[in-house]
Amino acid sequence: MKIGCHLSSSGGYVAMGQTAVSIGANVFQFFTRNPRGGAARAPDAADEAAFRRFARENAIGPVLAHAPYTLNAAGADERVRSFASAVMLDDLKRLEAIPGAMYNFHPGSHVGQGADKGIELVASLLAGVRDRFGDSPATTVLFETMSGKGSELGRTFAEIRRLIDAAEAAAGKGAYNLGVCLDTCHVWDGGYDIAGDLDGVLAVFDREIGISRLKAVHANDSMNPLGSHKDRHEKIGKGRIGIEAFRRIVNHPLLADLPFYLETPCDLQGYREEIALLKEMKK
Ligand code: FE
Ligand code: FE
Ligand code: ZN
Repeated sequence: MKIGCHLSSSGGYVAMGQTAVSIGANVFQFFTRNPRGGAARAPDAADEAAFRRFARENAIGPVLAHAPYTLNAAGADERVRSFASAVMLDDLKRLEAIPGAMYNFHPGSHVGQGADKGIELVASLLAGVRDRFGDSPATTVLFETMSGKGSELGRTFAEIRRLIDAAEAAAGKGAYNLGVCLDTCHVWDGGYDIAGDLDGVLAVFDREIGISRLKAVHANDSMNPLGSHKDRHEKIGKGRIGIEAFRRIVNHPLLADLPFYLETPCDLQGYREEIALLKEMKK
């Protein structure tokens, strides 16, 4: 089972790899830079090289890099979008050093411009990043499913599909390897009943997006009821989704081979226990 959690990137890649191993994880996620700011630590080629060896030796990966929350590719303000573009370009360039890495970002908030306009802005931003990148990034780029708070894009699977189609039309097919990260708290808060009807929700995902686009799962319980559009993560089994739902999620044939990343309100010991719990539930 590929399972891990969100880790602090303050010590670099090898430190994250060592922490992952110490809590029973074989994958991990990290913020590419301060989630609420822009500055990234200076790239450290020695750390990257040491991590590539460490990951091979310890069968770690795929590593999931999470874009900062401040990245809004659908913003109305030109400066917001050029910041988003600069961050994404820099993140994708850096991630070339990490084989098999995936890059997860929140599709964006249209801030009153409407979903059509927002989708168009996201697509053209991705096209611009690809142009300045100069080649197709090796890193798979994932749209995260969102809870739909405020004017967030990506609450419905249909909207994720529109984002993928628009991005491929704007950047060119094959310009990116585009996929989806399914966040269990977000889809639940967005109105998809993964506790009561996991098969049905995945059938909708397959119909609207195509299950082959699904590359990662953010495993989080939710503090709030189905369809609440709140996005408050809870520890596994302590929220409204519930432990039995997670038992079905980790064992579902369409999900079982995907990497799972916990983003629950836990310290390292808490993550160690949740990783053990999910592994134990997996048949
Ligand atoms: Fe996220
Ligand atoms: Fe998430
Ligand atoms: Zn969230």
